[in-house]
Amino acid sequence: MNAVNDMRHNFFNGLQQNLDGLREQGLFKPERVISSRQGSEVLSEDGRKLVNMCANNYLGLSGEEWMVQAARRATDQFGYGLSSVRFICGTQTVHKQLEKELAQFLGMEDCILYAAAFDANGGLFEPLFDEQDAIISDALNHASIIDGIRLCKAARYRYEHNNMADLEAQLQAASGKRHKIIVTDGVFSMDGTVAQLDKICNLADKYQALVMIDECHATGFMGRSGRGTHEHHDVMGRIDIITGTLGKALGGAMGGFTCAKKEVIETLRQKSRPYLFSNSLAPSIAGASIAVLQKLTQTTELRDRLHANTSYFRREIAKLGFSIKPGMHPVVPVMLYDAQLAQKYAQRMYELGILLSGFFYPVVPMGQARVRVQISAGHSIEQLDRALNAFVQTSRELGLPKKPGA
Ligand SMILES: *Cc1c(COP(=O)(O)O)cnc(C)c1O
Repeated sequence: MNAVNDMRHNFFNGLQQNLDGLREQGLFKPERVISSRQGSEVLSEDGRKLVNMCANNYLGLSGEEWMVQAARRATDQFGYGLSSVRFICGTQTVHKQLEKELAQFLGMEDCILYAAAFDANGGLFEPLFDEQDAIISDALNHASIIDGIRLCKAARYRYEHNNMADLEAQLQAASGKRHKIIVTDGVFSMDGTVAQLDKICNLADKYQALVMIDECHATGFMGRSGRGTHEHHDVMGRIDIITGTLGKALGGAMGGFTCAKKEVIETLRQKSRPYLFSNSLAPSIAGASIAVLQKLTQTTELRDRLHANTSYFRREIAKLGFSIKPGMHPVVPVMLYDAQLAQKYAQRMYELGILLSGFFYPVVPMGQARVRVQISAGHSIEQLDRALNAFVQTSRELGLPKKPGA
């Protein structure tokens, strides 16, 4: 009995020591609690108004009344849930319609839904590639891509982040393999870096490789009509597989998808484990997502407002002398370099009514700590100005030069 008690004590104690260690190093991630709907302005747990600068709510749709109503209509018609995986009795007309409209929106042949983009990536590679094949992956790809590749027997080649010379070297190294696929985030969410899809597609042609992109931070607003990074780089029709999420710009509930040619999608329906062994997407989400796609097809108004807000914020914060990662994406990293400073900075901004998040190792490389701003179509200029003023005040109070670390 005592040995068992000791074993338990050691296990729980060990966890507690690790957690204490994270706190001491300033690497512990607290959770902010919101008591309102998601939006450009939210209420904190104690009822304070906060300008929200850290949601993936790029088009401002998450808390919108018309979205809630679209979800309610789908719930009224199709019920609350399916209590089934898709292939047993979890497929309704609303799921088939959403798959069709997503494929159409992205300019692809077919589409399969998942409970999350994490699952779409996690279940993508193993059914399609084996030890005869090669996966060539950007070093900073999302965790779900890395996990998905781990579950697959294909040979793995990693190229330096966004480095086209290294990508070419890896393609050459993989030249003996049967099928090759280049895998990249369309947009990298920590820096707002946009993958060079034009160059990637040219290399893919030269070395006869397929191309897969993860469009979680792009679908709905990148490119002239919001189709994504492939539209932004004018390579629609040259991408073989697109994965994405319903949990960010497209309304923010949850759910993911993969779009590709019919043969790929049918194979995934037969063999992709997160699809086969996990529940069907809630009808409310499927119905509301259809409403979003129809709106985005009719008008680029939200996408246009997002890009106008982003240009404004990027221009103004640079004018104030802050060090940001250059670019055009609504992810705007404001560099602080030090993990504890990033935490302290976010805390002070919170007290000043601005909700944003500090990022530090292991989410970003050591010494690259930052607070990350995410702009939304839902922000007013007045809200963006409030955030800018709070940046100035926080830096002054913490005694920072405007370009910390510079
Ligand atoms: C958010 C994100 C995911 C996961 O999306 P979920 O639908 O929330 O599981 C996958 N890939 C990238 C690049 C992401 O940013």
